[in-house]
Amino acid sequence: MLAPGCASISTDATHGNGRGEVTVTQRTQLESFDSLIPVAPDSVIALYDRYPPERFYARYGKQVNFVSALIDSFNSTVGPAFALDTLSIDHALERFGEAGQSGHMLFISSSYFFLFNDVHILRSVLTHEFGHVHYRMLDSVALRLTDRLWTQVQDAALFYLFRDGEYSGNAWFGGHPQDNPSELYASAYNLIRNNPEELRVRFGYVDTLHTSLLKQVVDLVTQR
Ligand SMILES: [Zn+2]
Repeated sequence: MLAPGCASISTDATHGNGRGEVTVTQRTQLESFDSLIPVAPDSVIALYDRYPPERFYARYGKQVNFVSALIDSFNSTVGPAFALDTLSIDHALERFGEAGQSGHMLFISSSYFFLFNDVHILRSVLTHEFGHVHYRMLDSVALRLTDRLWTQVQDAALFYLFRDGEYSGNAWFGGHPQDNPSELYASAYNLIRNNPEELRVRFGYVDTLHTSLLKQVVDLVTQR
C-alpha cells in the first residue's frame, strides 16, 4: 500500500465498549467536547461503531495515505534522529480527539478522519505535532527564549491568539498553548504555516504594546 521509505502504519485495535449501545461512561467521556464537535456525542459513538479498523481503512485509506506522505515530507525537515517512523491510528473512544507522540510513533485518533474528513485539519494536526518535534530539537538558548516568551504571553493574557482551534481548518478543540512552552511553540508553528493571514489579522487587533512580543514568537517558529 505504501511506497518504501514511507512512514509505516500500525493500528490500535482496542475498540469501543461493545457495539450498538451507548454507555454512560462513553457519553460522559465526550461531554467536554459537546460544544466543539460538529455532531452530537451519541452520533460520535455511532461513528466509532460504524468504523472499526477493518472498515475504517476501506473508507479512509486515501486520507491515511495522505497523512503518511505528509509525515514523510515533514521527516525530511528533521532528519533521521527525530523522524517519526510509525503512524498509529487510535481507534479507542477513550482517546477521542487526541493526537500525540510516543518515541518515534505518531498516533492520531480515528475520530479526526470520520468526524471532519478534511485534509486541512489533518495537515494542521500533523504540522502541530511536528512543531513539537522541532521544539525538541531546540538548543538550550532557544529553549530558554521559548520559556521566556511563553511567560510573557501568559502575563499579557495572549494565549487565545495561539489556540489552533480558533482558526479555520483546525479542529475546534485543537490547541492548548497555555499548558507549557512546547504547546505554545507547536501551535504557533502550525498557525504560521497554515493560517498566516488569519494570524496577521488577529495580531492587528492587539495593543501595539505587544507587537514586539508577537513578532518574537513568530520569528522563533519561522526560522526552523
Ligand atoms: Zn500539542
